[in-house]
Amino acid sequence: MNTALEPAIVTTLTIFMLSQKVLSLKPSPTISLDAKVKELEAQGVSIVNLGLGEPDFATPEHIAQTGIQAIQNGFTHYTAVGGIAELKNAIVHSLATTHRLTYAPSEIIVGVGSKAILYNIFQALCNPHDEVILSTPTWSTYIEQIKLAGGVPVLIPLQSPFKLTAQDIAKKITPKTKIVLLNSPANPTGALIDPAELMQIAELARTHSLLVVSDEIYDRILFTNTPYISIASLTPDMQTRTVVVNGFSKTYAMTGWRIGYAAGPKEIISALSALQGQITSNAPSMAQKAAITALAGDQTAMNAMLHAFTERRTYLQDAFAKLSPLNVTVPEGAFYFFVGIQKLLNDRYPTSAAWCAGLLEKEHVAVVPGEAFECPGYFRLSFASSLKNLKLGIAGIQRFITA
Ligand code: PLP
Repeated sequence: MNTALEPAIVTTLTIFMLSQKVLSLKPSPTISLDAKVKELEAQGVSIVNLGLGEPDFATPEHIAQTGIQAIQNGFTHYTAVGGIAELKNAIVHSLATTHRLTYAPSEIIVGVGSKAILYNIFQALCNPHDEVILSTPTWSTYIEQIKLAGGVPVLIPLQSPFKLTAQDIAKKITPKTKIVLLNSPANPTGALIDPAELMQIAELARTHSLLVVSDEIYDRILFTNTPYISIASLTPDMQTRTVVVNGFSKTYAMTGWRIGYAAGPKEIISALSALQGQITSNAPSMAQKAAITALAGDQTAMNAMLHAFTERRTYLQDAFAKLSPLNVTVPEGAFYFFVGIQKLLNDRYPTSAAWCAGLLEKEHVAVVPGEAFECPGYFRLSFASSLKNLKLGIAGIQRFITA
């Protein structure tokens, strides 16, 4: 055999062996951007990376110390699949005080990040061809996870300022609809669903016997003066048809600790636990301990992060206002600006993906193209990055626009 051909043949054979499920996966666009950034950095190029979806802060010291202590105390073994009782109790208490939601510990499951929790939710709830309604722009993971579960994502394309309404959802309901997926505040737009719309969405769920999956991971990163409203808290019957998803990654800068959770009807939580027991088993034991401190301990560091996000958002609001012709919606929550660049697209940069690649290549500023969120013509800029970086990023964008 020609040895030079061998690797190619092996590669073809290996691809041939992969499942249809895996072959149909869309690679995560944020991960490919990250790879390009790392490649440039490896060449010695300094990148202003405004593409990241995680807080730039260290995990607060007292939370980290609890994890370290847990390791030192030998708390390094399997725990109950769905999480330790002490953490479930802390989550029950937190949901009661922040969201006016009353759950029993048996209605809570802790898992390996909210991404894994969401994956299991779709696996547990979707039969083939069940439809899940969600709006775009969206975090692309939802779409892939729904498809992996055999479900059908039914997309509602929203226009700037990306406010989801009950009417938008109503238009997409069919006899096959099973789930309405909400993400408020949303990644990548930072948009909140207005309370009046939540009420009407609840009414739709009731009338059409739908389940609601409410991803509330950005619920504590809010720039409004009104408290957060979870759709599950609107009426007692809404709580019985909603699975609330949340986690520690964003609020407490704990992305690497991998702790997320769901709260919902006992039957669904038991099913999630049965699934999780065959996949990951428990979330890391020491991280569960740290998560208790995050919820029940001093909130000063968390408030300081929120303060920094608020300051950066104000800076960007002003900076973007001076940059034309951009279409900018100021986010109500989360830590992203989703910026329309349709008017900047031309023969050289015909798509937002090409424009963002150009920005990275020429100005060494990384932002995520709207294509990654099923919404071409935009980019997502994360302000989970220092004010200094944001200023460098804006300067780079300005140069790129005027070049
Ligand atoms: N939900 C949304 C909307 C997100 O943006 C993310 C992370 O980017 C997650 C869930 C997953 O977070 P984790 O798995 O770290 O809890």
